[in-house]
Amino acid sequence: MKEKQKPQLDRPERLRSVLDDCRPDTLAIRAGEIRSVEGEHRDPIYATSSFVFTTAREAAARFAMEEPGNIYSRFTNPTVRAFEQRMAALEGMERGVATASGMAAILTTFMGLLQAGDHIVCSRSVFGNTHMLLNKFLRRVGIESTFVDQKDYRAWQQAMQKNTRLAYLETPSNPLCHVSDIQQIADLCHEAGVKLIVDNVFLTPALQRPVDFGADIVLHSATKYLDGQGRCVGGVVCGSDEVMEDVYAFLRTGGAAMSPFNAWVFQTGLETLSLRMQAQCSRAMKLARWLAAQDGINIVHYPGLESHPHHELASAQLRADLEEPLYGAVLSFEVQGDQAAAWRFIDATRVLSITANLGDVRSTITHPATTTHGKLTQEERDSAGIRHNLVRVAVGLEDVADIQDDLCRGLKAAMQGDA
Ligand SMILES: *Cc1c(COP(=O)(O)O)cnc(C)c1O
Repeated sequence: MKEKQKPQLDRPERLRSVLDDCRPDTLAIRAGEIRSVEGEHRDPIYATSSFVFTTAREAAARFAMEEPGNIYSRFTNPTVRAFEQRMAALEGMERGVATASGMAAILTTFMGLLQAGDHIVCSRSVFGNTHMLLNKFLRRVGIESTFVDQKDYRAWQQAMQKNTRLAYLETPSNPLCHVSDIQQIADLCHEAGVKLIVDNVFLTPALQRPVDFGADIVLHSATKYLDGQGRCVGGVVCGSDEVMEDVYAFLRTGGAAMSPFNAWVFQTGLETLSLRMQAQCSRAMKLARWLAAQDGINIVHYPGLESHPHHELASAQLRADLEEPLYGAVLSFEVQGDQAAAWRFIDATRVLSITANLGDVRSTITHPATTTHGKLTQEERDSAGIRHNLVRVAVGLEDVADIQDDLCRGLKAAMQGDA
């Protein structure tokens, strides 16, 4: 062939002009799509550590950031970028930065935006390692934190200091599904010149877009629902170009980067996110209703139940374009009796996996007081409302009748031991 290969009219080029008008379910499948000259339909995995330059001059220009282009996969990889673009589109943010894990997303955000002498206000009901990162490691390098009750607006207000730079919350919280008013907290943050970070792991952008309520930064453990099938560990942070430039600058040097293979898995996971969330949440709703009607269950914590103290707020913060309200796929409940009863409940199940993970198509069951919240003092657990008879279920995609049968086994075992 003498003729040089012509640039192909590739699908992503055709798509670009209409993508901005596309709706979320389309963005989850089409945003960030990439295609090489081979014309493959499924996005390729750029499994390469570095990229080559045609000349020394080009290399110099890339390193000096004078021209765009790939350099090295710690900070420029097309597969990782594709995932970042898709996530940013779904969260309604300008830019995403992917990281090696959810914790790396949180660390990279803090390191990119803070320095010694700065202060963070954080909800008390956050992921255990987030609490540890702030309370132990960041404190050690001169970044102080104040922890507040996530529902206590006045406490948030009073905790703000002159040197406060960031505020941080998760909603709904783990495992009691308490809901924070994002708009209210964002407003008070902005009055104080503070940026609000929301960990959106529990609902994902398929159900809740914190940016619509004023959040400045949204981050994820991609390990959970974004993957959805429990295969890879990863994280992502989304925000404005301006904020993300500082986060990215730390990632480039700090190095907690996402691998191209994991990015590809997450990219693929996003394509089924909204369908999985619909199916898992509707199962969770059925099970929550059923559990609430059982003798032997004291209370069910699920924001979809009208009896949940934050049901209205939870409903108001869902994406307005959902066909039906969906409240997440994690629920917890108190078994009548003590810790032994909760353990009997868990041990009697056969289908559910006994693991503290969530966000998988496989349903999981765990005892928060001795696992995810086991490092807290008794007093901290009491004030958080995490009792010894509390059991948490993250509902997956198995037939809801089989999950219910499994919970029946648990309930029977919990009650029999009581007699
Ligand atoms: C799992 C999780 C994290 C941490 O993510 P990793 O991927 O495990 O590092 C942070 N926040 C929440 C709410 C989580 O569930």
